[in-house]
Amino acid sequence: MNYVEFFKQLSKDDIPIAGGKGANLGELTNAGIPVPPGFVITAGTYQKFITETGIVDQINDMLATLDINNTPELQKVAEDIKQLIVTTDIPDDIQTAIIESYNKLCMDVEKEDVVVAIRSSATAEDLPDASFAGQQDTYLNISGIDDVLTNVRMCWASLFEARAIFYRAENDFDHSKVLIAVVVQQMVNSEKAGVMFTVDPSTGEEEMLIEGAWGLGEGVVSGTVTPDTCRYDKANDEVKSYRINTKKTMFTKDPETGATVQIEVPDDLKDKRVLTDSDLEQLTQLGRKIQKHYGAPMDTEWGIENDKVYMLQARPITTLDNIDVAKNAESLDDDEERVIITRGLGASPGLVSGTVKIIRELDELDKILDGDILVTTMTTPDMVPAMKRANGIVTDEGGVTCHAAIISRELGIPCVAGTGEATTVLEENSKITIDGKKGLVYEGEFGGDKDDVEADETQINVGAAPIVTVTDVKVNVSMAEAAKKAYATGADGVGLLRTEHMMLATGIVPYKFIDEGREDELVQVLVDNILKVVDVFYPKTVWYRTLDAPTDEFKTLEGGENEPDEANPMLGWRGIKRELDQPDILKAEFKAIKKLHEQGYTNIGVMLPLLHKPSELREAKEIARSVGLIPHVDVDFGMMVETPASAIIIEDFLAEGLDFVSFGTNDLTQYTLALDRNNELVAKHYTEAHPAVMKLIMNVIKKCNEAGVTTSICGQAGSKPEIVEKLVESGISSISANTDAVPTIRKLVAKVEKKIMLDAARKVLNDE
Ligand code: PEP
Ligand code: MG
Repeated sequence: MNYVEFFKQLSKDDIPIAGGKGANLGELTNAGIPVPPGFVITAGTYQKFITETGIVDQINDMLATLDINNTPELQKVAEDIKQLIVTTDIPDDIQTAIIESYNKLCMDVEKEDVVVAIRSSATAEDLPDASFAGQQDTYLNISGIDDVLTNVRMCWASLFEARAIFYRAENDFDHSKVLIAVVVQQMVNSEKAGVMFTVDPSTGEEEMLIEGAWGLGEGVVSGTVTPDTCRYDKANDEVKSYRINTKKTMFTKDPETGATVQIEVPDDLKDKRVLTDSDLEQLTQLGRKIQKHYGAPMDTEWGIENDKVYMLQARPITTLDNIDVAKNAESLDDDEERVIITRGLGASPGLVSGTVKIIRELDELDKILDGDILVTTMTTPDMVPAMKRANGIVTDEGGVTCHAAIISRELGIPCVAGTGEATTVLEENSKITIDGKKGLVYEGEFGGDKDDVEADETQINVGAAPIVTVTDVKVNVSMAEAAKKAYATGADGVGLLRTEHMMLATGIVPYKFIDEGREDELVQVLVDNILKVVDVFYPKTVWYRTLDAPTDEFKTLEGGENEPDEANPMLGWRGIKRELDQPDILKAEFKAIKKLHEQGYTNIGVMLPLLHKPSELREAKEIARSVGLIPHVDVDFGMMVETPASAIIIEDFLAEGLDFVSFGTNDLTQYTLALDRNNELVAKHYTEAHPAVMKLIMNVIKKCNEAGVTTSICGQAGSKPEIVEKLVESGISSISANTDAVPTIRKLVAKVEKKIMLDAARKVLNDE
């Protein structure tokens, strides 16, 4: 394992190693975008640091009993963990690697003790697309190796800020699977800086949104300053609007101490326009280039020094899936008839009412109760726990692109940012209504509740709705609670409903239910969870995948002490192999499906994992019949193609009788390339695009098409454009992607289908 990687060695696929920020800085560098040079201390290095020093166990113990909704307790545990990390010595070999890399950077840029920015870049092992916006720290204007090492440790510690712990727990991210990489990058002393979204992040419209303020970008990103806001019409290549806001403070380098300081903006600059026409031209050109390069709308940070634009970060916009027509339509058209108390920026759409609670200090957050409107000077990520309880959010400062605004969009909470005066003009305990699309705050209550807005099942994703494709675009679901959000993408069904989380969330190993004669309870857990998904999607098909959890995943559950210790759980007792050895679980699953089928849910299919021989399919069908669930009659019966064996002899499986197959490329890749998908040491070799994996897939599509059997993909590769393109060209029947990737994949599928038709038409014309 390399402790350190320079940007040139990294690409966007390196998120597990370098985190989102580090991987994307590598991608931008290699795409020829101006990025200040630097390197990344990898996520594996952090993991080695906590494991080798033994502090990992202490950290886990502290987190194990923590109640994240108890704010004082959360803050104390966060402080204790951070303290532990910053006071633990870094092992010698890691320290040497960091020192050597810093010295190399100094040589590359020909500067002694080059001044750097040190930024954290979090990554989740299993969830490379997760957004951890603004949850970890950044240290600016650091110079000299001693300070670099100190700040690297502080960066590692920032993984345990209270808000970060809260966010992970709320989003069901396992703390131990979220790691942190550290970006060390030459500092740009920006005279002006800000953010640029390559489409409007709150409506999804093809309009770039650029925010800029004086000094370093931290002011805009953290929401401390209300920046100038520019909307840029991409179709007509012109500035649609430019709003000059009063910029009170700025972050800059203190010329004497070299430290980053927050100062008052000089009077002549406060109301001066920040971005010149030439700045906007450079920025929008880079924005287009970056979006084209990634093939997706992007959220970027930039800085301008001596009239040159540098890109400091880029990541896909994560909030577009939450946007829905219903919510946008809630904006009022008859503003004049209502009394507007104050105006700001529409940061997260939705029309909601509630009681004003003004927060001046973080320790007042407890006073926010369910349904209140949180009013504060500036939104910060520390407020997330209280934001979750609030019905809406109003701030004095901050732009629509500050991190807390991003989180409020992700949480689906309406937000009006940058009013300049909310904390002084709004009265504590008064009733107000906010319009998070138009950025208006009204007197009185006439709006809804954030949950009503969110629960509206008629919501349709604006990006997804108008596009019709012949190849179905489906969605993967792993938690019943996520079904509505998945449905809102407009997906054509669920191509993979994983049962592991639903079963393991009981906290008890499923086998214990059986051993204790509590099968009925297990069946009921399954019925309750599956129902939430098949009901939302009805009549669209949901493929339920039977249990496939490696033994190591059961260990911490009640009853997990009896699980065997396997040297290679990935090659061990999982999937269909275990289900046939202990058929009671499979029986319980089939009983749950039968029960739902009897209630009229005819939209369920059964999908078996990890098969390697046709007899497994035959035996599973027998078990289904034994509980009265008739394969191919009551339910479609299919299998995952996850082992090279099943791909090579697919004809033999087809002969057994199949309604569909779905490629589980996560496993198919690990078994074809002999690379453990959970082992980060070999992660750099792991790619589904390997010709051997693609050849296996192509063989199965061809044979299934000949036999008239539906094919699909539900592994992570189904969310990767370059692979999806090849599969559509080869005639796959459907693609099942992650919720966040559905709109992009749908557009891509439509494009590839059009290209196929165009090529065919051209061929006919040429042949004539
Ligand atoms: C796969 O292997 O690609 C798959 C979708 O299954 P899982 O990731 O749950 O193993
Ligand atoms: Mg799998």
